[in-house]
Amino acid sequence: MSIAGALEIVRARIEAACRGAGREPGEVRLLPITKTVAAQRLRDAYAAGCRRFGENRVQELAAKAGELADLPELSWAVVGHLQTNKAKVVAGLASESQALDSLGLARELDKRLQAAGRQLDVLVEVNSSGEDSKFGLPPQEAPDFVRHLAAFDTLRVKGLMTLALPSPDPVMVGACFDRMRQVQRRLRDDGCPGSFDELSMGMSDDFELAIAHGATCVRIGRAIFGERPAPRP
Ligand SMILES: *Cc1c(COP(=O)(O)O)cnc(C)c1O
Repeated sequence: MSIAGALEIVRARIEAACRGAGREPGEVRLLPITKTVAAQRLRDAYAAGCRRFGENRVQELAAKAGELADLPELSWAVVGHLQTNKAKVVAGLASESQALDSLGLARELDKRLQAAGRQLDVLVEVNSSGEDSKFGLPPQEAPDFVRHLAAFDTLRVKGLMTLALPSPDPVMVGACFDRMRQVQRRLRDDGCPGSFDELSMGMSDDFELAIAHGATCVRIGRAIFGERPAPRP
């Protein structure tokens, strides 16, 4: 299927999920995740209306940002775990980082952003599934972490991001999404600095469920661009 066709289907599914949950479709933004997808194919997504893409590797983001530099209004989000030594590239190229989970990284980003005269929207990554393999803060550490982030003027804290349990059981997956809403409520109740309106959760296999549980950003790769090649061993 064409990228435009796949996007149309995904957008219709997002709308239907919003309607089913009694929400406005405008409340949920679609962030296409473009890892392993060639820059040339992203032009089709751009032509079909996409203006921001998400990458989980900084090197790949930098390469594609270069190849697509001619496209007006295109911006980039980093959605994967960041090594501190990549902060400079992110500070120069990205508009959003959805995987902030350490103060060391926040400090380095702030330093580089100040030097570049830029700001960055950030989402704090929370480990909602409790799996050891996942990045992100344990839910109970989020309030303290967010208070510390207030020291960094260049970081605009917008909300939270998570990867749910990869499970076919909607009850288990839904519990991860609900945990995120609890963290969000706690941050607001505690008067933590920031807005926390954004809940980035839901991917190709679980985005409708995520929308039913309050997602405001869904990160979708395979449902738009097709299956990815198997990762190299
Ligand atoms: C790859 C990726 C996605 C998209 O996953 P799909 O299953 O292809 O929709 C979303 N979020 C992150 C952090 C990713 O790395």
